[in-house]
Amino acid sequence: MAPTKITKTIKLADGNRMPVMGFGTYKIGDQETMNTAIDAAWNAGYRMFDTAMLYRNEDILGPAIQQLGLPREGLFLTSKVAEVVQGYDRTMKAVEGSLKRLQTDYLDLLLVHWPVREYFFDTWKAMEQLKADGKVRSIGVSNYTISHLELLATQAKEMPVVNQVEYHPYLNQQALFDYDQEKNIVTEAWSPLGRRAVLDNPMLMKIAKHHQKSVAQIVLRWELQHELVTIPKSTHPDRIKENAEIFDFDLDVDEMTMIDILNRNERTGNEPEIVYETGKQY
Ligand code: NAP
Repeated sequence: MAPTKITKTIKLADGNRMPVMGFGTYKIGDQETMNTAIDAAWNAGYRMFDTAMLYRNEDILGPAIQQLGLPREGLFLTSKVAEVVQGYDRTMKAVEGSLKRLQTDYLDLLLVHWPVREYFFDTWKAMEQLKADGKVRSIGVSNYTISHLELLATQAKEMPVVNQVEYHPYLNQQALFDYDQEKNIVTEAWSPLGRRAVLDNPMLMKIAKHHQKSVAQIVLRWELQHELVTIPKSTHPDRIKENAEIFDFDLDVDEMTMIDILNRNERTGNEPEIVYETGKQY
């Protein structure tokens, strides 16, 4: 059955709940644009906001959220530990900076942004400690492949509850998604619209026409029906609202399959294995 609201949440393996849809903030770089976007997102029903140390916008997201004047419990904030600050001590320190910039006492979800071989286990130890200290409610990873997750399992006291990875119709990462599901890890889709690359696909346009929806809405709906969490980004209030209006229709089995087979294993972002080895995005 179709979920009825954007505020729908799912239960994570650690018992916490997470909204199924959130708002991405990558590349939003000035206060005015951030204020407008966050205001529009809140009014459209988004309660989860995704940032990262690397985006260098935690310090404008914090005030943009403050201007809404809302109780902290109603929000779900995610940030990510950048490659350049990984390692035990550096991660512990860097997260203090994120909390300060975001003007909050805790994060709902903290992710290791990319796996880095050199700091792989030490960073995760810090993540576990930050959770034990109450600085973060849930801990997860981003851009981890099956082999990274298998490696982590050899030493982790607790496993990540979320794996945020690139996911859209041209890169549906089926094997990774199946693995995450089997291990009770929620897969969260970054670049859920393929950074616009999928928006002119003729098959998606046909399905969109049939439902009298936009291609973006069809793609986001497909992700939700696959039980992923999705975090589209936009700076336009009309698109922010449009992306949230996906809870009033269903894609049928045939439509879901037609979108599934658009997969081309085509990335818009970095290859996790290269970042793992080099410790750098390229
Ligand atoms: P995306 O959400 O797939 O696409 C964003 C692009 O699509 C923007 O150019 C936006 O333009 C446009 N857009 C949004 N809604 C639209 C609509 N309804 N119609 C037409 N165009 C639309 O890409 P993303 O920002 O890369 O990914 C989303 C979020 O995932 C990020 O913001 C970030 O929070 C997270 N992320 C995480 C990682 C990671 O390594 N963990 C990597 C990348 C991203 P306008 O802004 O001009 O509307």
